[in-house]
Amino acid sequence: MIVKKNKTVYICEYCQRVYIQLYWANIHEKCCRFNPINDHICFKSCQYLTKRKGDPTKKEPKFIYGCTATGNEMYCYTAIRDRNDVTGMTKMPVDCPHYIDKNAPLPVYTSG
Ligand SMILES: [Zn+2]
Repeated sequence: MIVKKNKTVYICEYCQRVYIQLYWANIHEKCCRFNPINDHICFKSCQYLTKRKGDPTKKEPKFIYGCTATGNEMYCYTAIRDRNDVTGMTKMPVDCPHYIDKNAPLPVYTSG
């Protein structure tokens, strides 16, 4: 067995995953699920989020998301990792003025 010492390694600052090659470390960090730029607010249970399956023969993402508030078709960070064709789609936002939690309790109105 060969043990190399004092070798440069690259560690993802979001999940601590270790890479030998800078190229792959850079790709991973952009697509790391713990990277704050990939913390899509839509997934926190937005009532406007829709989801359909993409067409793998067209290199579309596994799932294509939609927003019924903006009419946008969206992709999540895994589409970049999987090198899908995201032409005409926008990246799912981290923050959104339209976000409404579909599980939030209904507001209570009092009469009078
Ligand atoms: Zn990571």
